[in-house]
Amino acid sequence: MDNQFVFMFDQSEGGKKELLGGKGANLAEMTRIGLPVPYGFTITTVACNAYYDAGQIISPEVESQVLEALRNLESRTGKQLGDLANPLLVSVRSGAVHSMPGMMDTVLNLGMNDETVKGMAELTNNPRFSYDSYRRFIQMFSNVVLDVDNYIFEQRLEDIREEKGYHSDTELQADDWKQVIEEFKSLVYKTKKRSFPQDPKEQLFLTINAVFDSWNNQRAFLYRRLHDIPGHLGTAVNIQSMVFGNMGDDSGTGVAFTRNPSTGESKLYGEYLINAQGEDVVAGIRTPQPIESLQKEMPDVYQQLVNTCELLENHYKDMQDIEFTVERGNLYILQTRTGKRTAQAAIRIAVEMVKEKIMDQREALLRVDPDQISQLLHHRIDPEQKREQLAVGLPASPGAATGQVVFDADEAEELSKDGKKVILVRPETTPDDIHGIVAAQATVTSRGGMTSHAAVVARGMGKACICGCDSIKIHLESNQFIAGPTTVNHGDTITIDGSTGEIFLGEIPMIEPELSEEFQLLLSWSDEETNMGVRANADNPVDAEKALEFGAVGIGLCRTEHMFMDASRIPTVQNMILSETTKERKDALAQLLPMQQEDFEQIFETMQGYPITIRLLDPPLHEFLPDKEELLVDVTRMHLEDPHSSELQEKQNLLRKVRLLEESNPMLGHRGCRLGMMYPEIYEMQVMAIFNAMSNVMDKGIDVKSEIMIPLVSHVNELKKMRQLVINIGEQVQEETGHVFDYLIGTMIETPRAALTADQIAEEADFYSFGTNDLTQTTFGFSRDDAEGKFLQHYVESDVLKRNPFVSLDQEGVGKLVESGVKLGREANPTLKAGICGEHGGEKESIQFCFDLGMDYVSCSPFRVPSARLAAAQATIRNERKNCLKEPQYN
Ligand code: PEP
Ligand code: MG
Repeated sequence: MDNQFVFMFDQSEGGKKELLGGKGANLAEMTRIGLPVPYGFTITTVACNAYYDAGQIISPEVESQVLEALRNLESRTGKQLGDLANPLLVSVRSGAVHSMPGMMDTVLNLGMNDETVKGMAELTNNPRFSYDSYRRFIQMFSNVVLDVDNYIFEQRLEDIREEKGYHSDTELQADDWKQVIEEFKSLVYKTKKRSFPQDPKEQLFLTINAVFDSWNNQRAFLYRRLHDIPGHLGTAVNIQSMVFGNMGDDSGTGVAFTRNPSTGESKLYGEYLINAQGEDVVAGIRTPQPIESLQKEMPDVYQQLVNTCELLENHYKDMQDIEFTVERGNLYILQTRTGKRTAQAAIRIAVEMVKEKIMDQREALLRVDPDQISQLLHHRIDPEQKREQLAVGLPASPGAATGQVVFDADEAEELSKDGKKVILVRPETTPDDIHGIVAAQATVTSRGGMTSHAAVVARGMGKACICGCDSIKIHLESNQFIAGPTTVNHGDTITIDGSTGEIFLGEIPMIEPELSEEFQLLLSWSDEETNMGVRANADNPVDAEKALEFGAVGIGLCRTEHMFMDASRIPTVQNMILSETTKERKDALAQLLPMQQEDFEQIFETMQGYPITIRLLDPPLHEFLPDKEELLVDVTRMHLEDPHSSELQEKQNLLRKVRLLEESNPMLGHRGCRLGMMYPEIYEMQVMAIFNAMSNVMDKGIDVKSEIMIPLVSHVNELKKMRQLVINIGEQVQEETGHVFDYLIGTMIETPRAALTADQIAEEADFYSFGTNDLTQTTFGFSRDDAEGKFLQHYVESDVLKRNPFVSLDQEGVGKLVESGVKLGREANPTLKAGICGEHGGEKESIQFCFDLGMDYVSCSPFRVPSARLAAAQATIRNERKNCLKEPQYN
């Protein structure tokens, strides 16, 4: 039924994530397979979108379907919403297609009011529990629906505790809670000038509205942007009959992962709190007990939980994150979802699930997100270094980080905008702190467990995090924390290790990452799946070595200008650029030749026969020259000091030349092969250096394959001339040395004209490498240097562009040029090798695109090589399985 907006959990088959949201689909599925799920129903994502289309109004049709589902729920539970003797209470939870933990709103205990609370007290014979539940409801509803700041409730509660001499909430009795309820209601009246709504149906619809609205709250919006979740998907709403974990010591609530989300170890992992409700565990307000203790406290429930976890993991064939509640000794499952995990855990789980025969290699490869694994290529604390341990907390998200201590999320954001590295230290975090977690190098909390908000969010982002470090005492009012005898002030530097939970004073040197055995295995499976090569962009022996270590099968871009950037070479490069005659330029180039030749020799030796694409000089020359403004200041100052000095004359001369070389649009100016066209001696020197180096390395018995690449070609005639230049020098050096060189001549396709005339260009080229950085710049007409800072971010935030086209290839526009470039090129020259070396060569969706076009290789920075290898394998597997298999489920 197309216009069915509401489904009972047992009315749909599950698996309909797009319609029911992840939570709703899994609740339906768990109901179907007979797990103890409290009754309920789901309002679909289609209803959410209809709500927005109608101007944030629930249509009469949706309203009547909700009321019908409610009647259905009432008859199944034998309880009624608002009934005085046997009231139905429900939870109302958001549930988007992709899990967005803690980003949207939830209300529990809905249906309580001044009358039903009395009924509950009698029915449960537990007035304390009932009044506590009511005050929780008032607090949550007022915060989520009426937008009352939660802080004012917490503050009032703290005052009451103090007045009564209590240390914790568990000491408050029914009468105390009655007083709190009255005070909370009058706080609502004072702040919102309205009474707390007593009609449960009004409560219900107001909450549904609020949950729909929360799809577009600031933190959900930010989370979606961070995780590339489209804004049009909307959220479903799940309404479920309440079960209570706060009914006494035979009740509780908890979270369990079927495997360790931090390390991947195959062992039930989780936390719970006795006599607590819903959000208490994830909110991180009380530090929970490890799940193993449940075995002692409630052995039957524990066994039932273990069995359920096993069943769910086998059912979904992936690690699950399960929320459960125990009500008077009975276990209920409230949610299951694919568990978020660290990169390390993702790899271990994928590899072990293959060993356990839960899935095959190809499926395992599809389960690991290439973006995530680059986390593993970051630094670790050097174990050899001395360090002063301040405290140890829970190792919530691995990785090491150093930064200045800050205690506020806004400040973390501000300081990191100024380029400062900060560590956010908080008693606990809430979803409102997400911008601070994003900005900080790492987060430390003194409360909360491994499943607290900070831990979940940090793991999802691959940021280091330590939680529940209760040995540090945080004093927000004085901006410091105390760890044993040490006081750490705001702005002091600390280092943290999220893999061990340790906090250290000061900065500790880090070491380079290594690939674990499991990681290597997964990558070797990747290489078995694909023929598309992954090369690295590298222009020095250190990067070349890294590239090989990470499994690159060649260098796809060696930017020769980077070899000129060394401080000791800049003066010679400047002389070369500023020469006023060809003779002067040739003299300077003669000095550069041996330097460049030595660099090539080192890279060739390192790469041991793997192909190396060497690009001749490309950037605008002014990039090597002194800054004009600074020169002007110097000249003015020197003129005032001594208008006749010879130094002044030299500076003036330099300023004149810099002015002569100045261009209005340097990125579209005298750069790329246009340099070789105007000053062929520059390219001649570079080509000579390449061939001399090849000859010397070949003399040592080492194989060398070079691919000489001409940049920024827009007309075939440019390439024709430059090709001839290379051939001439090649012949000369071959003749002199007696070697026969294994080399190719090719070009970059990085202007629209080159892509459009790729057939002509292919006649002169052995290979093409798509320079998609420039091709994006020239196709959009967006300056690479300025667009991101000026307007691109706004374009992405306001949905003008789905993604930043300099990060992920614009397949509809720039991609069309790439596609026709490959096609035209191959038609004219069937042996043409094609690859990509722009930044997009390391991005998973662009890699898929390149694979689908039949490119031979992608090239990216060395640290992105492992994730590109995995992405290339995924592209191959997906391409083969097209239309017959669902998309991979990233964690
Ligand atoms: C490109 O334009 O994509 C490219 C790789 O070259 P560069 O970034 O050096 O201009
Ligand atoms: Mg370029």
